Amino acid sequence: MEMEKLVSLCKRRGFIFQSSEVYGGLESTWDYGPLGVELKRNVKEAWWRSVVYERNDMEGLDAAILMHPSVWVASGHVDGFADLMVDCKGCKKRFRLDHLKEKKCPDCGGELTEPRKFNLMFKTQVGSLEDTASSIYLRPETAQGIFVNFENVLTTSRRKLPFGIAQTGKAFRNEVTTGNFTFRSREFEQMEIEYFVKPGTDEEWYKKWIQDRFDWYISLGIKKENLKLRPHAKDELAHYAKACTDIEYLFPMGWSELEGIANRTDFDLKQHAASSGKDLSYFDEATKERFVPYVIEPSGGVDRAVLAFLVDSYREEMVRNDKRVVLGLHKALAPIKVAVLPLLKNRPEIVEMALKIKQGFGKSFKAVYDDTASIGRLYRRQDETGTPFCVTVDVESLSDKKVTVRDRDTMQQDRVGVDKLKEYLDGKLKEGGF
Ligand SMILES: [Zn+2]
Repeated sequence: MEMEKLVSLCKRRGFIFQSSEVYGGLESTWDYGPLGVELKRNVKEAWWRSVVYERNDMEGLDAAILMHPSVWVASGHVDGFADLMVDCKGCKKRFRLDHLKEKKCPDCGGELTEPRKFNLMFKTQVGSLEDTASSIYLRPETAQGIFVNFENVLTTSRRKLPFGIAQTGKAFRNEVTTGNFTFRSREFEQMEIEYFVKPGTDEEWYKKWIQDRFDWYISLGIKKENLKLRPHAKDELAHYAKACTDIEYLFPMGWSELEGIANRTDFDLKQHAASSGKDLSYFDEATKERFVPYVIEPSGGVDRAVLAFLVDSYREEMVRNDKRVVLGLHKALAPIKVAVLPLLKNRPEIVEMALKIKQGFGKSFKAVYDDTASIGRLYRRQDETGTPFCVTVDVESLSDKKVTVRDRDTMQQDRVGVDKLKEYLDGKLKEGGF
């Protein structure tokens, strides 16, 4: 599938808009519209359920975006989180040194400046007066918020190793090259886990987490042939990592990283212990040993996951010589679960009945009422937004108190009593994993 098609659908149906569009947009920043925000929330909720609620060894956290500046010195981001950049003296464009094949501008052939370090962190000031304020950063990853809270969570939750901490939240990187729709942007959302283990058991947990995270995407409908594991070569590893494997997805621009699972060893806890002077070691009651835990980090991008689910679920098919575009999203992820449609909008009794049915779903899931087109067009509209079920109220409904339920994927229609409708739909949605 082409990215262009998806970008256009996302705009047309209200999934994703260019940020600040009325001002001509801000490069590679994106706003999630009415359907996009639902899809994104559903992705994060599915993740949270899977890694926090359905396990016995996890806790959640929501750390602040702004952190003490020393955090980023200890983590290595102040010194190391930088790309070597060169500028073209002719056209003034900036390039990453490691992306260049020759020592001249790839665009105009102009002369290049000496390489300079360009830190990827966004800097800002704390306090209202710039001259008295101190510089801090917008976090470039959520991980450090977890490391510095290791002791807090361990103590208050009375956990024993192995256990993990999960967090979703925004992170910021002043990337020079962005693009491929929402795949790489400067403001993005992460879903990260830091899983603390006894040294020596790290390799086993590393393998388990790779498998668990791979299976999660499959369980939410991603086709297996579109996912693969790519272990990093030794020379690609970050300085703190003992091993790292990417879960890659076959995006329209090719295989690209969806999530990375890294064995970060005891690097971060040791760095923060040394830098803060606080003991971040762990005492094992059973063996009477004291040690600094190793950490396995499954780190996924929310925006990338949303993009992968959209790409993977998009299909076009012919139905009676008519092209139908369907987002076959997993029922747990679909932004709208049920659309209630009146067959005749000029009959007040039908409209009233349809609105009442829609209202009844409000406490359980997102449902919509729509009467702005003919029934055929309303179905197509819901297919394109991934709505699993459409409920149609017609003239007969008024006397037999039954409605027609249409399935997005099979297009089969069932006649269901209004008093049984909620139970019927709950059952169908549950079958689909919602
Ligand atoms: Zn140039």
